[in-house]
Amino acid sequence: MVAIIGAGPSGIYAAEALSQQSDVPVAVAVLDRLPVPFGLVRYGVAPDHHSIRSIRNTLERTLEKSGVRFYGDVNIGSDVTIEELRGVVDAVIYAYGAGSDRRLGIEGEDLFGSIAAPEFVAWYCGHPDVHPDIDRMAPRGAVPASKAERAARLIATTQSAVVVGVGNVALDVARVLIKSVAELDDTDMADDVLDSLADKMVTDVHILGRRGPAYTTFTTKELRELGQLPDVDVIVDPADLEFDQSSRAVIEMDKVAARNVAVMADWAKAPRTNAARRIHLHFWTKPNAILGVDQVEAVQTERTRINADGYVEGTGETGLIPAQLVVRSVGYKGVQLPGVPFDPNTGRVPHSEGRVIRDGEFSTDEYVTGWIKRGPTGVIGTNKSDAVETVTSLLTDIHDGAIAGKHSIDELDELLADRGIHPLGMPAWHRIDAAEIELGESHGRRRTTLAHRSELLAAAEDHT
Ligand SMILES: Cc1cc2nc3c(=O)[nH]c(=O)nc-3n(C[C@H](O)[C@H](O)[C@H](O)COP(=O)(O)OP(=O)(O)OC[C@H]3O[C@@H](n4cnc5c(N)ncnc54)[C@H](O)[C@@H]3O)c2cc1C
Repeated sequence: MVAIIGAGPSGIYAAEALSQQSDVPVAVAVLDRLPVPFGLVRYGVAPDHHSIRSIRNTLERTLEKSGVRFYGDVNIGSDVTIEELRGVVDAVIYAYGAGSDRRLGIEGEDLFGSIAAPEFVAWYCGHPDVHPDIDRMAPRGAVPASKAERAARLIATTQSAVVVGVGNVALDVARVLIKSVAELDDTDMADDVLDSLADKMVTDVHILGRRGPAYTTFTTKELRELGQLPDVDVIVDPADLEFDQSSRAVIEMDKVAARNVAVMADWAKAPRTNAARRIHLHFWTKPNAILGVDQVEAVQTERTRINADGYVEGTGETGLIPAQLVVRSVGYKGVQLPGVPFDPNTGRVPHSEGRVIRDGEFSTDEYVTGWIKRGPTGVIGTNKSDAVETVTSLLTDIHDGAIAGKHSIDELDELLADRGIHPLGMPAWHRIDAAEIELGESHGRRRTTLAHRSELLAAAEDHT
């Protein structure tokens, strides 16, 4: 019996790999601390990227397979400890993702108006951690008490926003900030979120990259999308497209970089259309400080260059971008789950081919996959091959007799029942799914995300 901690893509792909083989019959429990499965496919992938979000239909089919069971609303580490869980299963696979963010380490980072991309993304995707239960919300006009209220207040007062970072998450954030609410209405964003976005008055989004256009981690399809937004000019300084030797080497070697640079070169040449809104791409620019008294008022920037050792350094030439909102999109970071081996330097669980290393030796029953194994990189599909590697190691260890199949899924159920935990299974997810579709259709949308935990739990209830 194998317990997988985390029902994001990596955990579900691991369940799929286990259920697709017939050499060793394995019962699989996929546990998640949230009432619903799918991890960042629900709470990260941009709501306006419908086809990518529809991957959840495939993931759902795996959770429906015989031999696989979903246990929602079970927080490993607090509802039950890792040790307790390991006591009732033959092996565990850690697939709990990278739940934290990286900081910039500059002055003003904690001012009101400076926010980490994971928090902003969780807000617009309707994550229950960010959306408090309705009875805990501050009245309109009062000091924002929750992260959701903070995000909503910021949106309503921001005309100019700075997004620090040049990856796809930065593009997602920029699109949500610059698109009109009418353009976001065909998403499944929660009603609270859409209401807040309706108050939006953002006209300018500035994206900052410490290096040149050759060094972004954008995918070309997502980058191009910026240029297709109606009534939005994308502004690139032609001077940023004069390449130094190292940029030229990157463009020669990396096809994606070459394609991205070509897209940006077209924008740099294009005349402005006097659109109502603008996205400015600033390269060779780093934020030095976030300025403001009680809240963000501007970002002080500095031009950068690559020094003789290949590192980015400031040139001393500074600038000022007036802004009321700063979103730092410089990466997600893994955190330690109590009782699980963890390397704070890499933000990952130490392993070899998915076998967890505990106190310098291979642990006999612990495996790892996904972002907490390899760090927050790659696309959703990367988690599939990653999970296959981990499951291959696990199955090899079963064959070699290193893991004895002595536990049944009933023992896990008994442990949870002893703790007074009532996991939500796939029938509960289907009720939530139906409630979200019904709510959406009731006001002419395809679906509306239920963002508050109390709403999710109420929808999950079986009234038959
Ligand atoms: C903003 C954003 C946009 C993205 N957009 C795209 C895109 O368009 N296309 C694409 O291919 N990829 C995209 N990705 C990447 C993709 O989402 C990741 O590759 C993938 O989700 C990583 O899977 P994971 O299972 O390792 O982690 P996650 O998806 O984070 O899943 C981890 C799961 O573990 C659960 N968990 C955490 N702690 C516990 C605990 N203590 N007990 C029980 N459960 C726990 C969490 O609730 C979560 O459900 C995006 C990522 C982000 C952040």
